[in-house]
Formats: sequence, C-alpha cells, structure tokens
Amino acid sequence: MAASDLLTLTSAGLYCPQGDFFIDPLRPSPRALITHGHSDHARAGHDHVLATRETLGIMALRYGEQFAAGTQAVRYGERVTVNDVTVSFHPAGHVLGSAQILIETKACRLVVSGDYKRAADPTCAPFELIPCDAFITEATFGLPVFRHPPLQQEVEKLLRSCALFPDRAHLLGAYSLGKAQRVMALLRQAGWDRPLYIHGAMEKITRFYQEHGVDLGDVRKVAAADRPTLGGEIIICPPSATQDLWARKFPDPVIAFASGWMRIRARARQGGVHLPLVISDHADWDELCQTVTETGCREVWVTHGAEDALVHWAAQRGLQARPLHLIGYGDEEADEGGAEVSA
Ligand SMILES: [Zn+2]
Ligand SMILES: [Zn+2]
Repeated sequence: MAASDLLTLTSAGLYCPQGDFFIDPLRPSPRALITHGHSDHARAGHDHVLATRETLGIMALRYGEQFAAGTQAVRYGERVTVNDVTVSFHPAGHVLGSAQILIETKACRLVVSGDYKRAADPTCAPFELIPCDAFITEATFGLPVFRHPPLQQEVEKLLRSCALFPDRAHLLGAYSLGKAQRVMALLRQAGWDRPLYIHGAMEKITRFYQEHGVDLGDVRKVAAADRPTLGGEIIICPPSATQDLWARKFPDPVIAFASGWMRIRARARQGGVHLPLVISDHADWDELCQTVTETGCREVWVTHGAEDALVHWAAQRGLQARPLHLIGYGDEEADEGGAEVSA
C-alpha cells in the first residue's frame, strides 16, 4: 500500500481515511490526533482529541477545560487502535508532551513528526527514532545555512554579558511555551543560581512545567514595582515584550533573543536585539538530513519551512520526496507575539 493511501492532504490538513482522523487539523474536526501544544498544531473545537496527557493539559490551559467534546490521553509508546489502523505517540523532543505519531497497517509504517529536534532539552523527553516506510518531516530550518551552534556556547554568551554588565538587567525574549522553560533549565545547568524572573504572560505555562516535574529552581513573576530594582538579573519574557513600554522600566536593559533565526544577523539587528542567542526547538539542516536517513524511510514528505531544499536533497539520495505546501502552520520561533499563553 502506498503512503499516500494511508494519509491524504485535505484543506483541513493531513487526513487518514482508514482511521478516519486528522492530524493537527486546521479546522474543528470529528477526530483529531494532536502532536503538540503549539497553537498552530493544537486548535480548539474538535469533537474528539487524542494526545499525550501533557498536550491535553496545555490545550486546557490555553483554551479552557472545554476545548474539545471528548479527549483521550495516550502514553508514549502505547498502541491505540483507531478504526482500521494502529497509532502510537513517540517523543519528538520539541516541547513538553510533544510527539511524533506512528500510523501502522500490515503494509505500511508512516510517521508524522510534528515539530522535532535532536539537541538536548532538559524539559522534555528526548526524540526517539522510529523506523518507517514514509516520514513526514517539518523543515523550519531546512537550508544548509542553518546549523545550530553548541547550546553551552550560546548560554555562555548570556552569562558573560551578565558578568560584564552587572548593573544592567538582561531581558531575554523567548517563546512562552517550550523555549522559555528550556532556557531556564539550561541556565540552571550552566550554574546560574540566582532567582529567574519571568513576564506574567508566561507564568501559567511555566508553573505547568514545574508541576510536571521540570526543575527550574526559583522562578519569580516580575511585579511592576520591582522592575527598576532588577539590575544584574535575568528576566525572561515573550519576544514582543522586549520592545514594549514594559521593558523600559528595567535598568539599562540588554536585549537578548533565543531563536534559531538569530543565525541571521540582519534579523537580530532589525529586532533591536543586542545579544542574539541561536537556541532552537527545531532540527537544523544536519539534524533533518540525519533523521530522514536514520528512519530508513523510502519516502519523505516535507512540510512547513524551506521544503524545496530538503526535497531536492532527499531526491538526490534516491528517496521519493514531495513538498506538502500546507498552509496554516506557523513558526513559533519567529513569532514576535509569543505572549499567547497569557490568560
Ligand atoms: Zn511547534
Ligand atoms: Zn510546527
């Protein structure tokens, strides 16, 4: 059986006819399997949602407990029969609860990766390689220019700046779900033991991580009155907040931004970023190529990002490759309005 019989492209997103379900559908759907909690993948209003417990929790946090008529939590590796197919969720290493979804029939194994990375992340389960016949990969950073540097080196840049400018506040822009908690954990690993301060917009999601056993140390919400007193501290906030009036009350702030896009100097300059940190929750070019190769797949479909380069690379290696041109999935690393989990 061809992979294209197992999963088809519709205007609402990827649909599995034999299982009668959608994956990360763009519109309210009767049955949705959700890879992870970012808002372009996890939308409200489906009749039934199958996802990891953490992803369901993130959806409830964002949309309220009534975000779907019915839900079912699935553990990593647990096999669930949905009509004529078997599905299972496997760690994607992207954010807490994120999963690749394996769809199996006797004839074919197909993996939808969602968003993923291979680099270390103390805040979520590490990416698990799933051998398959067909692999659907994201390609947010699907160009050879995107090679994420070692994490320690990027974290060290921030710590060095804190040491050089001990009287200035360091405002670190980071996406509210995933990136913010990851940089906190990385700072702890690097030995930063002062309290970490966060913008109110990321308080709920950060507490959610802590309640799920992610150790972030002493994390405090910034009170308006405290801002002028936070010289020498690290304050983590949605990227857009670094450009707000909100940021001006801190003592002579150094603006940092953690994103894979910080690899592009012009982008950092445009955003008024003094200290670009190349820290990404998406696979870089090498990780994308490595992962496609290691799955042993014969067929690869490429979605959101620079699709053509990866399609070309795969075709040269004798794989069947196609770009999906799915519209409607964003890129949270570029999102200046990262304050979405603010309710
Ligand atoms: Zn994502
Ligand atoms: Zn995505």
